[in-house]
This record gives sequence, structure tokens and C-alpha cells, in this order.
Amino acid sequence: MKFKRTILACIAIPFFACKSDTIVNKEVIVPKNVILLISDGTGLSQISSAFYFKDSSPNYARFKDIGLINTSSSREDVTDSAAGATAFACGVKTYNGAIGVADDSTAVKNLVEIVSLKNIRTGMIATSSITHATPASFFAHTISRGSAEEIALHLAQSEVDFFAGGGLQFFNKRKDGRNLLDALKEKKFTIDTTALSDFAKIRSSEKAGYLLAANDMPPAAEGRGDFLSKATTLAIQFLSKDDAGFFMMAEGSQIDWGGHQNNGPYLVSELIDFDEAIGKALDYAEKDGNTLVIVTSDHETGGFTLSAKKKKREDGTEYNDYSEVGMTFSNGGHSATLIPVFAFGPGSEEFVGVYENNDIFEKILKVTKWRGQELK
Ligand code: MG
Ligand code: ZN
Repeated sequence: MKFKRTILACIAIPFFACKSDTIVNKEVIVPKNVILLISDGTGLSQISSAFYFKDSSPNYARFKDIGLINTSSSREDVTDSAAGATAFACGVKTYNGAIGVADDSTAVKNLVEIVSLKNIRTGMIATSSITHATPASFFAHTISRGSAEEIALHLAQSEVDFFAGGGLQFFNKRKDGRNLLDALKEKKFTIDTTALSDFAKIRSSEKAGYLLAANDMPPAAEGRGDFLSKATTLAIQFLSKDDAGFFMMAEGSQIDWGGHQNNGPYLVSELIDFDEAIGKALDYAEKDGNTLVIVTSDHETGGFTLSAKKKKREDGTEYNDYSEVGMTFSNGGHSATLIPVFAFGPGSEEFVGVYENNDIFEKILKVTKWRGQELK
């Protein structure tokens, strides 16, 4: 009998010890920083291309917590980037073309507005104009994605602390004659329109903005180089300098454009460039331990497929060469395929599963506890 009791105790003690450890860990870890990386127009095939065309191991391979989102907008099965980003930024499904407004065209609070109330610092990066639909949804409220000058004005009026991208003409060559660079400087921005600077140069600035192209940035292979990775690192350094906690969004904007053009090499070079930026975010998150990194996309573009490469025999007949990957597209627009979500860091397990694109917003607020009482 005594022998039996001893065996029971041996089994029971480690079981309970293990269980209580798990509970303690879950309660303690609340991410202080969130880095949301959005690759516009990127489905599973686009992501898979990094595994075949990148010389080194893709940073996508570093994630363990993975989910899937349905990206349909409020009125359309196939979303556009405006509705897709508004779902992430504001937590609502809206109509295609809407920036930070609900289906009834009323403004909805975005993550920048919500976290700024808690003195959390915010940053926006894009390889398009900074007024383009994806970044715009995080700081602007307009009924149409086309109003770039209005969106620029909203950026100047927003609580964003760091931004980098193109779009200078919407700030300094406006139809209303206003020079928004002056307005930004009045808001204590250090503005650079020539190149990204070293962190040392902006360390003592309250806010920093980079507008490095008149409209969209050039493709990575045509002069943009490693802007996205550098801007991601610079934003992390700048936003973490006073340890207040930060939320930043960085977009690989042009993967979508490679898809629209059915241009495989363009798409892949932009995807690999985005994967490099993922690496910078993960390197920081690994060291920091308090940073949640979420990588996802608004939708897929082009109906892109990695198929066996089509080749021709000497007699002119076609065959599929299974030893080589070929790139094919089914259309020049967006598609409705489910989109992967990759998460790393404290709270990452919340992003596992199959859910709607606007749930990302709620999940970020839930794991960070950033939603204030006043906003409930
Ligand atoms: Mg975009
Ligand atoms: Zn698109």
C-alpha cells in the first residue's frame, strides 16, 4: 500500500508542477512592442517562392505559430488593399476603396489613435507612397483611397512618430498650395527628403519622417535597394529609444504590383526584399523578448502558382519539367484565397487558427492589453 502511494506521488507531483508553470508563463508575458509586417498581394505561393529563389534560408522559416485569415471585404468576396488594411488597422470589414472608415463611411478609430492615448510610439513604413492605401489605413480616414493629398494631410495631423516611404509631392506640391513639410516640422518632425539617415542623426529628435520619392519608391531592383530593411531597423531603434513601447507597420508594397503585372521576377525580388525586413524584425524580437512580430498580407494578387516549368522538346511538343519551378499567373487582379499569418514572440499563440482579417486588430489589442477602459 505504502509502495503504491509513493508511485502515485511521483506521478502526481511533476504533473501539477508542470501545469502551474504553464499557467504562470501565460499570465506574465504581455508584449510591449508590436511589429506588423504586411506584404501586399502575397499568398502562399508568393511566400513559397522565397524557398526556391532566395539564396539563403527564408526568414519565413523562423516562425512556429501560423494561422490563416479570410480577407473578404464587407461588400466584395475579393478585397482590395484599402479594405484589407482597414480591417487590420481599425478592426472592421469595410467596402473596397475605404480608408479607415466603416461600411457606412463613418470614421473608425485606428491602432495609431488607440495606442497613442497610452503614449505608445508609432511608426509607418512603405515601399509605395506613404499615402498609398495600406499605410494610409493606419492614420487616415477617407471614403476613397485615391485622395492622396487628403491622406497626406491626415498624416501631418496624426500621432505617428516615425514614417518612411515615398509621396513627397502630396506634401509639398499640393493643389491647395499648402506645404505640409512645414506643418510636420511644427509638430517636431525631423524631415529628410534625400535618404534614410543613421539613428545617431535622429536620436534626439522627437519625431522623424522620410519622404524619399515624389510618388512611389522605385522597385528594389531598380534603385530602392535595401530601403525596407534599413527603414525597419531605423524605426525600431527610433521608436524603442525611450522604452515607452511601440507599434509599427512596415509594408512591402510592390509584391502586389509584380502580381498585377504578372511579372514573376519583379514579384520574387520584392518578396525576397520583404523577407529581409522580416529578418530584421525577428532579430530584434529575439533579443528583446518583449516584442510581438506579426507577418501577413491583405490578399493574394495574380493567382500566382509555382508549377513545374513548361519546356519544349526538339520536336516542338510541350512537357512539364518537374526538376524546375516555373511561375504562372491566372489573372491580373486580386484573389480570394486564404492568407497566412505568421507570429513570433509573446502572444504569438493567439494568432494560430483560422479567422477573419479584422480579428488581427482585436488580437493585437487583446495580447498587448492596449485597449483602454475609455475605449471599451
Ligand atoms: Mg499596399
Ligand atoms: Zn493590388
